[in-house]
Amino acid sequence: MHLTIFGSGYVGLVTGACFAEAGNDVLCVDVDERKVEMLRRGESPIYEPGLEELLNRNLAAGRLNFTTDAAEGVRHGLFQFIAVGTPPDEDGSADLKYVLSVAESIGRHLSEYRVVVTKSTVPVGTADKVRARIDATLAERHAQIEFDVVSNPEFLKEGAAINDFMKPDRIVVGTDNPRTAELLKALYDPFTRNRDRMVVMDVRSSELTKYAANAMLATKISFMNELANLAERMGADIEKVRLGIGSDPRIGYHFIYPGCGYGGSCFPKDVQALARSAQEHAFEAKLLNAVEAVNLRQKSLLFDKLSRYFGGDLAGKTIALWGLAFKPNTDDMRAAPSRTLMEALWAAGAKVRAYDPVAMQEARRIYGERADLVLAKSAKEALSGADALAIVTEWQEFRSPDFDMIKSELGRPAVFDGRNLYDPAFVRRFGLKYYAIGRGDNP
Ligand code: NAD
Repeated sequence: MHLTIFGSGYVGLVTGACFAEAGNDVLCVDVDERKVEMLRRGESPIYEPGLEELLNRNLAAGRLNFTTDAAEGVRHGLFQFIAVGTPPDEDGSADLKYVLSVAESIGRHLSEYRVVVTKSTVPVGTADKVRARIDATLAERHAQIEFDVVSNPEFLKEGAAINDFMKPDRIVVGTDNPRTAELLKALYDPFTRNRDRMVVMDVRSSELTKYAANAMLATKISFMNELANLAERMGADIEKVRLGIGSDPRIGYHFIYPGCGYGGSCFPKDVQALARSAQEHAFEAKLLNAVEAVNLRQKSLLFDKLSRYFGGDLAGKTIALWGLAFKPNTDDMRAAPSRTLMEALWAAGAKVRAYDPVAMQEARRIYGERADLVLAKSAKEALSGADALAIVTEWQEFRSPDFDMIKSELGRPAVFDGRNLYDPAFVRRFGLKYYAIGRGDNP
C-alpha cells in the first residue's frame, strides 16, 4: 500500500520505517530540511535501538523515501498519517498548529480520495477540527473531494519503539465509517498475525483513550512517589512496600517504581493537556492536577536532598550527574528530571559534570557551551573531582558500578540515587553515604 507520513520524529519515523519493513511504499514528509537530508543519507536524527538499521534496509529497497514537499506527500499515499508534534501551549493545552498546518496542506493538494489518519496525541474533538480545516481549504479552491479522518493514537515507548510498533498490545482506531476501519485493518494485519488486536471505536473515544493511558501511567508513578515521600518520613522502605503491593494481581509489579519524577515528551504534556481540556468542559480534574503537582515536586527532590546535604550552600560545589535522557535507551531529554536538577544546581552556583550513554549530543544542543557544565566521556570521568554523585536515569551500565572507584573519585563520598538502583546496605559497606527515594536516611 502507499502511505504518507507527515512528521519524521520519534513517532513518524518509527511508523514509516515499520510500515516500509512490512512491504508498504512509504513517503515521509517533514518541514525540517536538515532532518530530511540526514534521513536520505540513512542517518537517524534520533537514537532509537534498531531504527537506523531499519531505515537503511528500507531506503535501499526503495520502500522508504523522504521529502519536504507536501504536495508530493498528498499525491503519494492513500493513507495520510499526521505524526507531527503537539507541544504544550502556554496554558498547558495541546498546541494544534502543526496538526492543522498538515490538514491545510492536505486540503490544498488533495485531488482524490484519501484517509487522513491522526497519529499525534490530540485532544478530543481534534478530528472535527482537522476535517473542518481540510473542508475550508477545499472550499477556497472550489473543490469537492471525498476524504475520511480517522483517529489512530500511537502507544509506542521510546527506547522500545520498534518492538512496540511491530508487536503492539493493541491498535486503537477511531472512526464511524466501516469502510475506513476495513482499510486500517488491512494495513495493520501484518502486525497482528497471532490475534486480532484492533479495537475499533468512535473517534472521540479513541482520542480520549490515548490520554487515558498516559494519565493512568503517570498516576501510578505519582502515587508511588507520594508514598515514597511518606515512607521516608515514617521510617519505612518504599522498595519493600512496592514488592508487598505488586504481588496483588489487581495492582501488579509493572510501572510502580518510585523515583525522581517522570519526564519525556508525553506524560507531562498529556496530563496537563487533559487537565486543561477538562477545564474547557467546566470540570475540575482534581486527580490529574494532583498527579502533575506531585511530579513537579518530585523533580526537585534530588536538588532538595543535595542542598540539605551541603548545608544549603551549593555555591562552588561540583556534582557528578549520571543520566541525562528522561529514561534509558533514548536520547530524548524533553522535560527530563536531569534538566530540572541541572538548572537548579546552576542557579545555586554549583557546577555539573554529566555523563549519559547516548544523550550527550542532545545536551550539547540544548545547553551549548557553558562554564558550569562538563560533558564527560564516561561515567568515571564525570566523577573526577566532583563533590557528590546524583543518578537520574536508570541506564543498564549504572546498575553495577565500581563503588570503590566512586568513593575514591568523589570529594564527599555521597551518592544521591534518583532511581533506587542499589541496595542501601551494600552501598554503605563501601563507606559511601547513600540517599535514595523513600528508603530512609534522608540528609
Ligand atoms: P517530534 O517532535 O519528535 O517530531 C515531530 C516532527 O514533525 C518533527 O520532525 C517536525 O519537524 C515535524 N513537523 C512539524 N510540522 C510539520 C509539518 N507541517 N509537516 C511535516 N512535518 C512537520 O514528535 P514525536 O515525539 O514524534 O511526537 C509526535 C506526536 O506523537 C505527538 O503528538 C506526541 O504526543 C505523540 N506521541 C509521541 C510518543 C513518543 O514516545 N515520542 C509516543 C506516542 C505518541
